[in-house]
This record gives sequence, C-alpha cells and structure tokens, in this order.
Amino acid sequence: MRSANSWGFAPAQYRMLCLAICAMACATVGHANSRQTKKHPAPKTAVSTWSKHDCGEGIELRVSAASANQGGLLLLELRSAKPLLEVAGKWTDKDIPFWQSDAAAPKGTPVWQALLGVDLEQAAGEYKLNVSGKSEASEAVRCDAGITVRAGKFATEKLAVAPNFVEPNPEQEAQAAEDSKKLKAIYATVTPERFWTGRFRVPLDGVKTGGNFGKRRVFNGQARPPHTGVDFPSPTGTLVHASQRGRVVLAEPLYFSGNTVVLDHGWGVYTLYCHFSEIAVKAADMVATGEVIGKVGATGRVTGPHLHWGLTVDRARVNALAIVGKQ
Ligand SMILES: [Zn+2]
Repeated sequence: MRSANSWGFAPAQYRMLCLAICAMACATVGHANSRQTKKHPAPKTAVSTWSKHDCGEGIELRVSAASANQGGLLLLELRSAKPLLEVAGKWTDKDIPFWQSDAAAPKGTPVWQALLGVDLEQAAGEYKLNVSGKSEASEAVRCDAGITVRAGKFATEKLAVAPNFVEPNPEQEAQAAEDSKKLKAIYATVTPERFWTGRFRVPLDGVKTGGNFGKRRVFNGQARPPHTGVDFPSPTGTLVHASQRGRVVLAEPLYFSGNTVVLDHGWGVYTLYCHFSEIAVKAADMVATGEVIGKVGATGRVTGPHLHWGLTVDRARVNALAIVGKQ
C-alpha cells in the first residue's frame, strides 16, 4: 500500500472543484460533445491532510481528510498498539468493512484500513464515524470521529434524448425497475476479499479525466436524478479496460445504461461501465487491471458514443476519478 500521503495528495474537493468548473462550461452540451479533457495541475509536493483521533490505550483513528464533498472518497486507518482480531466501522446507515493492511506497520503495530464513500446525495452536515474492534484477548476497542460532508456544486445539464428514455412505456419501465433491483442487490453485497492490487486506472487509454459527475439532469425538459458517473466521450469501438482487477458480476444489456459491465473489486468496491457497443466478458470472469472488457458505444440513454464509468463504495455513489491512482 502507498503511504498516507497518497491520500492526502490532491484532495477530492480540489478535483471536484475542477470538475464543477468544467461542468459549468459544458452545461448544456450532451454526452456526445468531445470537449478537450484538460489535466488539472496537482500540487507537486505531497501534503498530508490526515485527520488523527487519539482514542487512548494505543488506539488511533486516521481519516485522510476531515471533510469530504458529496461524491467524495476517504481512506480510514485504525492503528492499535495491541493486535486486533477484527475491526468494523459504521457511518450514517452503512457498515464500513475494514481489512488488515499489508503495509509496513510502524513499530510493528498492525494497521487496519477502509474506504469510506460519501454518496452523491448525502446531505451536507457532520456525521459520526464509529469504529469498533476486538483484541486477541477479546477486549473491545472503540474509536470515533466526526466527518463533515460538504455540498458539491453541480451544474444542471439539459439533454435531448429519444422520448422512450424519458417516458418509457410500461414494459420498458418494468425492465428499468428490474435492472435497478439487480444493481441494488449487487451493490448490497460485500465480498469479504480484496481483489484489487496496485493502482486503479482510467478505463480508456490516453485519457486523463472525464466530466459530468454529479450534474443535475433535465431530459427533454423533465428533471431526472443526478448523473452518478463520469463520462468519457470517445468514438464507437474504442477499447474499454478494467480499471482494476475484479470479478465480473454483470455483463448484459440494461434499459438506461445499454450494454453494461459491473466489476466487483471486493470489500464493497464496484466499478460500472455503460453504453458498450460490444461486451467482451461474461459474468463470473476474473479480469486483470487493464484487461479489455468491451468497446465504447451508444447503447441505452445517450446523446452519442461515450463511456459512462461509475464507482460504488459501500452503496455510496462516488466520483470514480477519486480512486484513480489509489491502491
Ligand atoms: Zn453518463
């Protein structure tokens, strides 16, 4: 695992601000717009922004930042002088699974880690994070921290799509409801194993960043839920790569997202890829980081060919760009 600084570096809020600015500039243009994707300058030197909470008896809880924007991602670490058998977290209504890090532990102290995703629509405010564990001698340990969620600034986007994607007929509506049920069941499953290894990557070659995350959407004049993924406008047929090692848990056409692939990376972390022209994998396949899983297309509710890439962490819909470069 990388050092603490890899998470304090270029904080999520910084990236979100950049995205919001880009989003405003292209607010009324559809997915098909192949605007320039600018790389935003990141600070050259790593600055640690860890928020540390000393809970006594050699227990310390570290959070990669004291606050996060809606759709942001935080890394949590629990360090304990005594070896712990298990650690679990609770935040809002969510269970946050911890795993024992393979990082070199300071002074032989084992480090437990977790990812905390802040859902795109989590209301701004402060929420208590409760972390509890059990020592080898069955003693209970506990450490809490307050995490502040700040409201994201998301532009509104007006799009024109085929009428059946705004007012589906009953049969199409039933299919969309079925799809959504299927995805919900997938994201509710926490596989107690970490499949990912090394850094997460952007799923397209030669692309640094995408846009549209969090935008409020108005389709054919009607308001719809916000955009939960990152869009990469790209020609049909462009190869799409797995952003990390994982297991294919869905590879099929869905009503709104067209030909769709979902990868389970373990510990509640999932990535979603939509609108493929062709799917190259099948459910239950294990894929390596960078492996081709399909080709960019324009299936489902789109205004043109692009890849829609989503990240879900413990059911929270998070800006997928927040995990790029992390490991
Ligand atoms: Zn999209």
